[in-house]
Amino acid sequence: NAKNMGRNTYCLFQAGMGDLVRQRRELEEDLHAAIEEGQFELFYQPRLDLNSGSIESYEALIRWNHPEKGLVSPVDFIPAAEGSGQIIPIGKWVIQTALATAADELPTARLSVNVSPVQFRDNDFVEDVRRAIEASGIPASRLELEITENLLIEDDARALSILTSLKAIGVKIALDDFGVGYSSLGYLSRFPFDTIKIDRSFVSDAGKNSNSLAIIETVVRLGKALNMRVVAEGIEDLETLNLLIRSGCNEIQGFLIGRPQPVRALGVDIPTSVEAALKAKGSPPTRE
Ligand code: C2E
Ligand code: MG
Ligand code: MG
Ligand code: MG
Repeated sequence: NAKNMGRNTYCLFQAGMGDLVRQRRELEEDLHAAIEEGQFELFYQPRLDLNSGSIESYEALIRWNHPEKGLVSPVDFIPAAEGSGQIIPIGKWVIQTALATAADELPTARLSVNVSPVQFRDNDFVEDVRRAIEASGIPASRLELEITENLLIEDDARALSILTSLKAIGVKIALDDFGVGYSSLGYLSRFPFDTIKIDRSFVSDAGKNSNSLAIIETVVRLGKALNMRVVAEGIEDLETLNLLIRSGCNEIQGFLIGRPQPVRALGVDIPTSVEAALKAKGSPPTRE
């Protein structure tokens, strides 16, 4: 009957919640060990500049070498690390490590690093970034921080003040995953972005969905008008590559160009098929 069903549902619900809480606690304990024992690693994914036809920057993407579970994806632990505040030490490590790699192993490349809104809430953030850049000895302009719109809706005034301080240091700022979430065109006029990254969902769809392609082309025009570079992420095949070349965006990123890899595995060459597509279309118009 209804009463029993209600009770059973309640019990199931309770058991489910207990599991989730336990899992989350375990994950946080594992993260604690990961921080202490240095189980994190950065992979680097190339960004191809369509104007020069060469790879001039890389996005740093964190990986966790879990002692039992193997390589764990950031989507499976970043939310927990944000919830527990562990993203603060992790994020610091990411910035320091990316900068050290830029200094020692990728001597001319620019590096982009993802930053969580929780890191922005930390009062020491700007100073930590400044110190990390100083310690690395590389120009601040070689570091780009990727933020998402979530950060802007939380505390608009504070976000603007932090972004302005970061820009004053010389760091570049990218708006990541543009077009999903609470995208607002107002953000583009209010915040000092250097780069807009079009979300992968539009890119992977561009060949089949003319609306997605129209959105990409419109963002490219918008970026040009606002003097921001436009990067498309998630290019997996030649058809999409050709659409993106024609769209006039500045840079592309995706498995077709290169997967995220440890720095020692990165090559300088781009795939022959990509090179041929770039040649066939000629140099796209200069955006700068
Ligand atoms: P994101 O910043 O948007 O990074 C792009 C994600 O798309 C990466 O996933 C990358 O591997 C994946 N990707 C790139 N090209 C392709 C493609 O052609 N096809 C497909 N299917 N995927 C592609 P990843 O490395 O799993 O990272 C996922 C998300 O985790 C990132 O999204 C970012 O939001 C977050 N993340 C990664 N590293 C960090 C970090 O160091 N700190 C913080 N706070 N977040 C991070
Ligand atoms: Mg990113
Ligand atoms: Mg993204
Ligand atoms: Mg993302």
